Amino acid sequence: MSTYKVVIVGAGPAGYFAALALQNLETPELQFSIDMIERLPTPWGLVRSGVAPDHPKIKSVSKVFEKIATTEKFRLFANIELGSDVTIGQLQEKYDAVVIATGSTIGKTLGIPGEDLLGSLSAADFVPWYNGHPDFANISVPLDCETAVVIGAGNVAMDVGRMLALEPSELDLTDTADHALEIFKESKARKVYICARRGAEHAAFTSPELRELPKLEHTNVLMNKSDINGAIARAGDSPEKDVKSNLDAMLLIAGLENKGHARTIEFLFQHTPISINGTDRVESITYSTPKGEVTVPCGLVITAIGYQAAGIDGVPYESGKVLNKEGHVKDNIYVVGWAKRGPSGVIGTNKSDAAAVMEKLVSQLAAPKNAGDIAELLAGKKHIDQSAWEKLNAHEVAEGEKAGKPRRKVIERSQACEIAGI
Ligand code: NAP
Repeated sequence: MSTYKVVIVGAGPAGYFAALALQNLETPELQFSIDMIERLPTPWGLVRSGVAPDHPKIKSVSKVFEKIATTEKFRLFANIELGSDVTIGQLQEKYDAVVIATGSTIGKTLGIPGEDLLGSLSAADFVPWYNGHPDFANISVPLDCETAVVIGAGNVAMDVGRMLALEPSELDLTDTADHALEIFKESKARKVYICARRGAEHAAFTSPELRELPKLEHTNVLMNKSDINGAIARAGDSPEKDVKSNLDAMLLIAGLENKGHARTIEFLFQHTPISINGTDRVESITYSTPKGEVTVPCGLVITAIGYQAAGIDGVPYESGKVLNKEGHVKDNIYVVGWAKRGPSGVIGTNKSDAAAVMEKLVSQLAAPKNAGDIAELLAGKKHIDQSAWEKLNAHEVAEGEKAGKPRRKVIERSQACEIAGI
């Protein structure tokens, strides 16, 4: 029997699905001992800091992650950062294979004037802010304005638009970070525009997300019927199934009566942002549209136009992704998830993606190295292992229960470490 040591960097969906794939490839002759490193004190990646708090069902995949993590040959090393606590070279020496699963964390920018003004943010900052990611707890989110604008026509733009336009008491029973809930409750924003640079037939929203919009109880959702009819005409007689499903959902929204709620989400298509304007802070945004330039007064602009991966020393990058060939990077380094293929697909997409890469990894294994593991590199560095995380997790859930929430997140790293008992 051969036991190979594999280290996975990043405890998000792609990392857990890579671990699961390795576990599924085990035979009596081929065994894996898996260590997972995570720079935050808490695992689960985007399931904790990306998925919108009003979508709790999507987060139930964390049960799958915990099942993977509680198998015998799996160890969690949270609060350990690749780069500062260990280097990729050290991991390469100790392990038979290194799997990068660090996602795409940097928001793409528009590259237009005014993007640096106060009140112009990336979804890459705003989303982790409302989800209680420790690195974003203190960002400034000025919601003292009547109108907010979200740029982009993908599901992140939709999440951001919904979070801004929901009646904040609808978030009381969610795991929205306390600091964000407080600011949402004081928010003066009543109109939220979600703006696409192309027509509705090109929107990257998915139809289940569109179909949930008419169910919002305290928010009007507006789409212009002629925009959608124009898109249907341009899409032709036999549009792709996803496009047709989206356009059907949008036609339904365009036919809704304005319910007269105080809060409104309005979709603008064929609006390409050309400048964000203001002196000390955002005051308006100017678009180029088929009818000419249009300027809309607003105090907050959130850009949700995709992400790119942050660099890791010693790992080649190209076009915002780790340079790889079907998941193989170089030597004994592999990559899965958004760091591999860019920010696309839903959480489940990572399952088949990671399985294919792990098959490749297994096919390229030589004899086990038996060169030790990370524990030897971490002398004196505190880490949160699975049982410490379970303690922190139980604390958050118990604190949430008192208020009828699924959990109340601990934000501060030092407090998380203390509660975890390290
Ligand atoms: P996305 O789906 O790729 O959408 C990005 C949007 O940004 C597109 O509409 C794109 O328009 C627009 N865009 C790009 N560059 C632009 C520019 N310079 N100016 C104006 N608009 C620009 O990305 P995402 O919304 O970040 O989502 C990432 C992935 O996560 C997606 O696969 C998404 O489905 C998934 N996700 C799923 C859920 C869910 O299941 N509920 C929730 C959140 C995210 P063009 O098409 O014109 O380029």
